[in-house]
Amino acid sequence: MSADLSAQSSPLVDLNQDDSAAWLARYGRSVLGVFGTPQRVLVRGEGSYVWDADGRRYLDLLGGIAVNALGHAHPFLVSAVTAQMATLGHVSNFFTHPLQIALAERILELAGAPEGSAVFFCNSGTEANEAAFKLTRRTGRTRIIAAEKAFHGRTMGALALTHKQAYREPFAPLPGDVEHVPFGSVEALEAAVDDSTAAVFLEPIQGEAGVRIPPADYLAAARRITRAHGALLILDEVQTGIGRTGTWFAHQGVTPDAMTLAKGLGGGIPVGTLVVYGAENAALLSPGQHGTTFGGNPIAAAAGLATLHVIERDGLLENAVTVGNQLSAGVLGHPLVAGARGQGLLQAIELTQPVAASVAAHLLEAGFIVNPVAPDTIRLAPPLILTAEQAESFLAALPAALDLASQEIS
Ligand SMILES: *Cc1c(COP(=O)(O)O)cnc(C)c1O
Repeated sequence: MSADLSAQSSPLVDLNQDDSAAWLARYGRSVLGVFGTPQRVLVRGEGSYVWDADGRRYLDLLGGIAVNALGHAHPFLVSAVTAQMATLGHVSNFFTHPLQIALAERILELAGAPEGSAVFFCNSGTEANEAAFKLTRRTGRTRIIAAEKAFHGRTMGALALTHKQAYREPFAPLPGDVEHVPFGSVEALEAAVDDSTAAVFLEPIQGEAGVRIPPADYLAAARRITRAHGALLILDEVQTGIGRTGTWFAHQGVTPDAMTLAKGLGGGIPVGTLVVYGAENAALLSPGQHGTTFGGNPIAAAAGLATLHVIERDGLLENAVTVGNQLSAGVLGHPLVAGARGQGLLQAIELTQPVAASVAAHLLEAGFIVNPVAPDTIRLAPPLILTAEQAESFLAALPAALDLASQEIS
């Protein structure tokens, strides 16, 4: 073994019994193949770094896809979750717990939600959108408008909102009455939304589509159009929420009828949330109409409260803005880079050629984890604690990876 592995230990499995290749062979024989072959076997993390089973270190610029807001093994999150587990780890939803209530109140406060608003806790983004989908059915209307290239999750309801044909087609028929219109087009919304529309579902910035930012007036127009027709406006902030874009939520100056959260909220512990704005909307789902076993359990609530606390205490919204700007400015200048787009620490590097996978592979070899979200787009969604020095180390390594990818095409 090449490195000091003493920091890696588990009382459950001897982490050193195999190297990466052997672990991956075992993975291939035991884990369902929906994710393909994992790129690395990771055994440890600290701050914005992770280590693989062969002892190699990586700067994590993906953060578990916008999940590890506080990086890895953050001491405050670890202690909050550990203390809660040692006190009361789970209760059914026949009971509640003060941390669950406190997290609900904190989320409503950050969202600026009016009196009568309420949250539903679940465990993932797709579940949050599933709950939102059920909410729309209670309006008495069934028609839903979503956006082309939208990603809202993989369960059947959320999948019906998701646009990508490769994800949808194998599972037809999906729950019905969902129409997709071009993202960012106010005219398309105006044409599609009428008095039979139950809801419009939108991501404020489309994450899985490659960090696509709509025109500045888009969400306000969506709000005006939905209001005029008595339709709900539901914003999916699963990826963009909880400080990712440098503000608590990516939608600013618009009050939706509902918002879904997940990814960053638990800092790595599964927490999803449907936030329903106003008493009238909150009354759409009545007792017995929805539920979950794990949602909002004390550990999840502790993780959510701890994550929100550290983001505020350590000024991580401001950090997301400054380091995000540093990244978007710093990636420019190479002939293979067409541009950068993004907000805060959700950034995309646009390439002039469809070689994102190759660039990402070379970066991984160099010790940097990024995501080739589209053939010509690299996505960055690092921990909100990423420092300027760490960002600089990535910017210093990027040109060599771009050069290697360029050589492969010429
Ligand atoms: C990731 C994501 C989801 C799905 O969340 P899961 O936790 O993977 O179910 C939904 N919407 C958006 C915008 C996402 O980025």
